Amino acid sequence: MSPENQRFVDPNIPDEMAAGIRPKMLCDFIGHDALKQNLSVFISGARSRSEAMDHVLLYGPPGLGKTTLAHIVANELKTNFRATSAPMLTKQGDLAAILTALEPMDVLFIDEIHRLPTAIEEVLYSAMEDFKLDIMLGEGPTAKSVRIDLPPFTLVGATTRTGLLSNPLRDRFGIDLRLSFYPVDDLAKIIMRSANIIGTRIDETGAKILAQSSRGTPRIANRLLKRARDFAAAKGKNEIDADTIKTTLFQLHIDDKGLDEIDREYINTIIKHYAGGPVGIDNLAAALSEPADTIEDVIEPYLMQLGLIQRTPRGRVVTESGYRHVGLEK
Ligand code: ADP
Repeated sequence: MSPENQRFVDPNIPDEMAAGIRPKMLCDFIGHDALKQNLSVFISGARSRSEAMDHVLLYGPPGLGKTTLAHIVANELKTNFRATSAPMLTKQGDLAAILTALEPMDVLFIDEIHRLPTAIEEVLYSAMEDFKLDIMLGEGPTAKSVRIDLPPFTLVGATTRTGLLSNPLRDRFGIDLRLSFYPVDDLAKIIMRSANIIGTRIDETGAKILAQSSRGTPRIANRLLKRARDFAAAKGKNEIDADTIKTTLFQLHIDDKGLDEIDREYINTIIKHYAGGPVGIDNLAAALSEPADTIEDVIEPYLMQLGLIQRTPRGRVVTESGYRHVGLEK
């Protein structure tokens, strides 16, 4: 997709103001209280024993705070934060270079860890389990395997799909944390906090309306806030009032449930071309000209959460509420 027609609510678009408003410590991270409580116990345990914390697997749709939490773990442990993403690791040597540069207790974040090629994943097993790096030097009959000691470190892996993770890899994570979509009240708090940081004003009612259209996703909430600030500025205001919010959502074609044109097209396509389903993901991807994994990671989780569609073994089906949402009857 070209940047101009990137969908507005796509939580994968990098957030240009993320650095300033990204929570730095656990106490700034809004919502997910049970998860925070557990994490804080694991962090203080590791700190009191002066050990590397157990490896952490973070799971959830894009934009819910996986990278943020990985940063927080490093900040709370007072260690370095090193980050990479699985698609950037193409050879065993790429990972070896990163692992051998680690300092004791560092946090290594690997985003999209389900995309690691098998050969690289295998290097990770002994690195995670014994802090040893087994690599082959040379090729063919003269190749030999060498074992290098690594400093103790904490791997934080993030994935949008635990289903795609191999069992041996998943088993090596001692801590498994699942991030789900945020309730409106938490998103409203995130919006109020971010508004404060970027120096714009929005009242609680306004924050709740924006929150309702944020697909349960903090990254989208922050982005909507920023666009609303632009529309307010265009009207010569510094405060984001109800009127500005209405204009923002209208101009961006976002409805009161946070659905945009692509979501509605997704639902309409299943209804009009496949009699409401079931339809397989590949047919749907072709009909919508969207990659199947974008559909699975970005579009569907939220539509399922709202009960507008269902994934069945035979394919995707639009529910009665889904029909109603686009103004049709089942
Ligand atoms: P992910 O890695 O899951 O795609 P990020 O960690 O990059 O998501 O989060 C996206 C943005 O949302 C960040 O810039 C951060 O500011 C904000 N954010 C995420 N979770 C929270 C939270 N619980 N409280 C406040 N802000 C959050």
